Amino acid sequence: MDWDEFAGWGARISEWAAHYHQTIADQPVRAQTQPGDIARQLPDTPPDAPDGMAQILDDFERIVMPGITHWQHPRFFAYFPANAAPPSMLADFLVTTIAAQCMLWQTSPAATEVEGVMVDWLRQAMGLPAGFTGVIQDSASSATLSAVLTMRERATGFTGNRDGLNGKGNLRIYCSDQVHSSIDRACWVAGIGQENLVKLPTCGARFALDTEALKAAIAADRAAGHQPAGIIAVTGATGVGAADELPGIAEIAAREGLYTHLDAAWAGSAMICPEFRAEFWPGVAQFDSIVFNPHKWMGAQFDCSIQFLRDAQPQLDTLKIEPEYLKTSGSPVTNYSEWTIPLGRRFRALKIWFLIRAYGLDGLRTRIRNHVVWAEEICEVIRNMGGFEIVTDPILSLFTFRCPGDDDRQQRLVDALNNDGRIYLTQGLHNGRKVIRFQVGQFDTTRDHVMMAADVIAEVHASLA
Ligand SMILES: *Cc1c(COP(=O)(O)O)cnc(C)c1O
Repeated sequence: MDWDEFAGWGARISEWAAHYHQTIADQPVRAQTQPGDIARQLPDTPPDAPDGMAQILDDFERIVMPGITHWQHPRFFAYFPANAAPPSMLADFLVTTIAAQCMLWQTSPAATEVEGVMVDWLRQAMGLPAGFTGVIQDSASSATLSAVLTMRERATGFTGNRDGLNGKGNLRIYCSDQVHSSIDRACWVAGIGQENLVKLPTCGARFALDTEALKAAIAADRAAGHQPAGIIAVTGATGVGAADELPGIAEIAAREGLYTHLDAAWAGSAMICPEFRAEFWPGVAQFDSIVFNPHKWMGAQFDCSIQFLRDAQPQLDTLKIEPEYLKTSGSPVTNYSEWTIPLGRRFRALKIWFLIRAYGLDGLRTRIRNHVVWAEEICEVIRNMGGFEIVTDPILSLFTFRCPGDDDRQQRLVDALNNDGRIYLTQGLHNGRKVIRFQVGQFDTTRDHVMMAADVIAEVHASLA
């Protein structure tokens, strides 16, 4: 393909993209294909001869698109959102086009410098004090793994990387029983082990980590000869949006000398609104590491996860490695690959720059505030639907409910709704009972899209045998 042809196809694809988004609401939200439907249509062996681009794109529409679940659909209420605002898509198209590896300052100074400024813009937008720095990672899972590795190294006097963990006893990490599975996996991969991730009960209306239980667990572990290494808190957990009380956790961590990490992967975006900060984030400035995903609620196309660090040095002491081939000469610069596990890096800051400039923080705040209000409104409608039960009230824009009947009935309703296709919801487990999650957060959803879901739920529920 030469570059003139590329320009032609690029124009065709951007027209296709606009049309896709203009008509997305006509599609069923969740893909309606069965396992194997797509793979069956692909040849078993790769072609020896080239195909024309027209044919390739036709096959893309015919074979691939029916197997796509539409995450940018305005009636996507499942999981958490993975918003991709149009300006952020355009930025990512530019990044794809430039295709630079932004591992060192030298390998694209603009990428490093825009990243530094964007992390600082977001620091200010989220009310974190000056002094916090940070880095853009691919996912919250990677940021959490980085923080857990830092807990491990700090607790072992930075000898784990060199000597391994043999003979170092049990390092212990504490969190509530609401945390995301990425915390478990970080502990597996870091060599801490599942048994040393101490999951504690929660209390209160927002299912916050019980700090009395935390104190008791740390004391018991010390008495047993274990070594406490860190605490992981959450603002807006995946199940029902659990949010920890940060000041109490920070105080215990300070007293015990423990490293702290806060997982705000979803809810962090809402902290650009001062009222939500006042509600959820007192004490946040005491945390050592904080992760949130602009690629969820805020609207920066996946992937884009920000990790803020109160002091970057412990993480650098944990992850930095500098073989000869990565050394650069000249004045000291920031090389962000030293802050993270992967070496190679995309230029992820560009989509944040485009996003924030195209909407302004006020535009982004308005969307988030609307989502929270609409979630509260539809929650009330469902509460008043005969026999339906609100299991957990909205925490920001997430609540959970049950229809009349047992757990099996909940799953049957979710499946029937997703087969119907007008809306997309997923289930969760809360206090051992199956619940249906409802979150409002798609970037361009409207109040009508949200409120319509109540009618769909009632109608599909009525049609269940
Ligand atoms: C989505 C989510 C994660 C995982 O985020 P990735 O970026 O997909 O790794 C972790 N924690 C919470 C609370 C989440 O909502």
